[in-house]
Amino acid sequence: MVYVDSLPKIPAAAIGYLDSDYLHNELTKDSDLKINLSMNCKTFPEAQSYNVIAEITGTEFPEEIIVVGGHFDSWDVGCGAHDDGAGCVQSMEVLQLFKELDIKPKRTIRCVLFINEENGSRGGKDYGKYAETNNENHIAAIESDRGGFTPIGFDVDSDSSVLNKIKTWISVLEKSGIHWIRKGGSGVDIQYIKNTKAKLGYVPDSQRYMDVHHSANDTFDSVHPRELELGAASIAIMAYLISEEGL
Ligand SMILES: [Zn+2]
Repeated sequence: MVYVDSLPKIPAAAIGYLDSDYLHNELTKDSDLKINLSMNCKTFPEAQSYNVIAEITGTEFPEEIIVVGGHFDSWDVGCGAHDDGAGCVQSMEVLQLFKELDIKPKRTIRCVLFINEENGSRGGKDYGKYAETNNENHIAAIESDRGGFTPIGFDVDSDSSVLNKIKTWISVLEKSGIHWIRKGGSGVDIQYIKNTKAKLGYVPDSQRYMDVHHSANDTFDSVHPRELELGAASIAIMAYLISEEGL
């Protein structure tokens, strides 16, 4: 929901899935149901904030960058453990796994924690501008922003020859629980990076995501460590294959 400055600002509210189910059930019992809704939200002045970036420089093609990222702002009512603490931790873990295994990637692996995804994507937009102004060559970007659940696949936004090449890696990716690679949308933050050969969205199981998404239930204890680790492994393997094989 957005406002246009020249028009009056009419209050509006979005309610979560659990609350909408509750409201629906109550309305089926009493169609004349009346509810009171009190809202206490405020718009505060803008404040300076930053993306956080770290990278392992490639040994053979350092100018070819592979981004792994998530966003580290969160919806106000929870602490954002799944959305998108999980994606941030997994992106950092990719660099950590390369270090622990002493893998020196051919291409640069860059972890980007984007700010302000939930409220305007200014971190993603600014990163895209930064990459363009500096003439950086991003061959691929991988985003994790769909919760920290068990891995199932990767959505790939690319031309069909690149997609077909990535599909040939499925037998390696299966080791971390990935079942499929398909054409699809990637992610909110990486969409602003221009001229990539592929943008990928990491896809975990979604069956329980709406129990926590943008709600007070999105807390640390709702993230299962093993499921989170498998996701980090999936993204690390994908980044490794792109780095070593190219696209
Ligand atoms: Zn998110």
